[in-house]
Amino acid sequence: MINYFDISLIEDLLERLYPICRSLAGDNNRKTLDIIREIIPLKNIEIPSGTKVFDWEVPYEWNINEAYIKNSKGKKLVDFNDCNLHVVSHSQYVDGNYKFSELKKHLFYSSQEPKAIPYRTTYYKKEWGFCLTKNQYDQISNETEPLKVFIGSTFKKGNMSIGEIILPGKYKREILISCYICHPSMANDSLSGVILTTLLCKYLMSIKERKWTYRIVFLPETIGSITYCKYRFLELRNVLSALVVTTVGGPDKVSYKQSWDKNHWINSLVENTLKNYNDDFKIYPFDIHGSDERQYSCPPLNINTISIFRSKYYEYPYYHTSLDNLDFVKPEAIYRSLTEYKNLIENIEQLIFFKRSIKACEPMLSKRDLYPKLGGDKVFKNTKNYSELDLILWVMFLCDGLTPTIDIAKKLAIDSNDLLEIFNKLEKKHLLSRV
Ligand code: ZN
Repeated sequence: MINYFDISLIEDLLERLYPICRSLAGDNNRKTLDIIREIIPLKNIEIPSGTKVFDWEVPYEWNINEAYIKNSKGKKLVDFNDCNLHVVSHSQYVDGNYKFSELKKHLFYSSQEPKAIPYRTTYYKKEWGFCLTKNQYDQISNETEPLKVFIGSTFKKGNMSIGEIILPGKYKREILISCYICHPSMANDSLSGVILTTLLCKYLMSIKERKWTYRIVFLPETIGSITYCKYRFLELRNVLSALVVTTVGGPDKVSYKQSWDKNHWINSLVENTLKNYNDDFKIYPFDIHGSDERQYSCPPLNINTISIFRSKYYEYPYYHTSLDNLDFVKPEAIYRSLTEYKNLIENIEQLIFFKRSIKACEPMLSKRDLYPKLGGDKVFKNTKNYSELDLILWVMFLCDGLTPTIDIAKKLAIDSNDLLEIFNKLEKKHLLSRV
């Protein structure tokens, strides 16, 4: 029996999943999902290439086994088999001889990190290219004879694979957990999130009585989440909040990205969770750039989505390069992030939501024996100078079915346990019901 806290399982997954050349769709994405399926019972959703999804279209499968640049003496100067980042993802098939002056526009290196091979994609433009270190680029630029260039890639009509698992809870309301499986060999960006999500799912499966339903998805970034929103649109209307799990294994201190509505309860819950275990953490406000929270947060779903990070994408020098590797990412860092996500889930499981049973306006309290016998007299003195009547009226005013009791307590600056008495009383009088 695998323990979700077993650090050797994180090591094992890093080693097995890191070398695989994933992209938007293809055999290697299915291979990745197969490995994850050894640990959690994922179901594959296969979406045919060419399917229209909102304003987008599901791409063809891209597969590649070989690619290189050779000099006139037959020496390989760049070889895909040394590192899969060497080929621009979704490059077209190429077999020809090129002078350096012709080849130059197809070569990419990083001037900030000359030892790194950058990661580039050409998903929606028919192009091809190689990514290389500055040293390799200089070497090629010195070649006077034409260079032999080969990219053995294929595009075929097939399917884009999405892994999905639904863990039902007592309530229909859901928490969505999403990670992306479209990146080739990089350890922090994409892969650390995939491993954490797998183990978090293992943990969720071990909870005997889950309150909420958990929807966990493994999909290619952007086109995958857009497709998922299209295919599960009605179900996603039940989502209370979402977690996009990525870049959780770097050396930096913990940080988190806020959801689009910074007053949403998920943000204060994340902050309370992180405060318990960290002296300090960085907050990134919501931004329209980023990962799949861009899709889930969009109208009309407007799902408040957060991410907890260790070395957030965009923010570390090795981001989108070959130096985001197994030396950069440590299993212990993923483990710590996993613990924080697990603690967040524990706090989410504690949430209580009430909704009003009456259709509109204030309820008539006197007929339910909730109104003080002498109108206007604050006879039920409570903390913070609220009378019981004040609290009843405030609770009835603030209960919208979407704000948890802890947030209502926060708004009223009162202890949530004190307020729970009021909620229970109103529930007994059938003015509130649990969502
Ligand atoms: Zn990325």
